[in-house]
Amino acid sequence: MMVGTARREPGKITRGHVELGSYPDGPLTSPVMIAAGAKEGPTLWLQACIHGPEVVGPLSIQRFLKTVDLSQMSGTVICLMLANPLGFRGYNRLTPQDGFNLNRVFPGDPGGHHSQQLAHRLLELSLEKSDAMLDLHSGGDLTITCHFTLFHNDGTPAGIESERLARATGAPNVWNSLEPFLSGAHFANYTKRGKPSLIVESGGGARVTPEDLERLTGAIFGVCRAMGILPGETPKLDRIRLGGDAVHLKSRRGGLFIPHVAPGDDVSEGQHLADLVDLFGDVVEEVRCPLKRAWVGSIRRPHMPIYNGDQVFELVETKGYEPA
Ligand SMILES: [Zn+2]
Repeated sequence: MMVGTARREPGKITRGHVELGSYPDGPLTSPVMIAAGAKEGPTLWLQACIHGPEVVGPLSIQRFLKTVDLSQMSGTVICLMLANPLGFRGYNRLTPQDGFNLNRVFPGDPGGHHSQQLAHRLLELSLEKSDAMLDLHSGGDLTITCHFTLFHNDGTPAGIESERLARATGAPNVWNSLEPFLSGAHFANYTKRGKPSLIVESGGGARVTPEDLERLTGAIFGVCRAMGILPGETPKLDRIRLGGDAVHLKSRRGGLFIPHVAPGDDVSEGQHLADLVDLFGDVVEEVRCPLKRAWVGSIRRPHMPIYNGDQVFELVETKGYEPA
């Protein structure tokens, strides 16, 4: 099996580059590595940097590849290091060439703009080469996220399996995404085509913490174990929090963003979440929670200057706890 110029070799980690698009003067590529077990088994598509600045992804893949025991592995992990090479090179969550959020334009279009063509290429390539997909995210530079896993369980076998894998990641926040705004995400489209897929996210605020690295690396091992690619138990948590039907709160005024809650906090209707303070020091907007019960999926980086219309909170409606 080949992915770009990387060839699978049993018991080895091999390297290469895969073509994902074109510059005016040649191919646009991403580094790819293939970790192959000594034994045959399922194939996981593991990818990072569909949002350019979210570098906990490639760092966690590197850590995974340095610590995994290939003699214990049954199957294959294909590691696509840069799902959006232009976003990575431009330190940009959006594709610099066309301004689109790549993870909102799936299934893509082979005759569309650059991001649509890239989405089409990524979806077809990942479906052709793998049995499941894990897409790593880490907030980037503008926002800070809590530690969650995200998947599309619409009740189909692929959706149910997506949730099973998500619960093996060790993430304490388990978000079944049926929201229309994520219908253009890679994971949702991969699952709609009949195979399990999920996101794990932790980090942001333009820095990488040891906890973020632990969480994403642990998620890779957890998914490999749940798929039978690696032996061993998956992480067991005392309690998980369920979520869905997320909303995005956008500012109506500009100023400096002063949050009063942190990523992962429980919040309730009417709660004072943040202030926007203008340059005279006056509060020009109080941001309050519109949902009855929710948890903070992500916040804009504290003290960041913002425009009216910028997203300041992602709130995920609380769907319960396990155990209750
Ligand atoms: Zn992301």
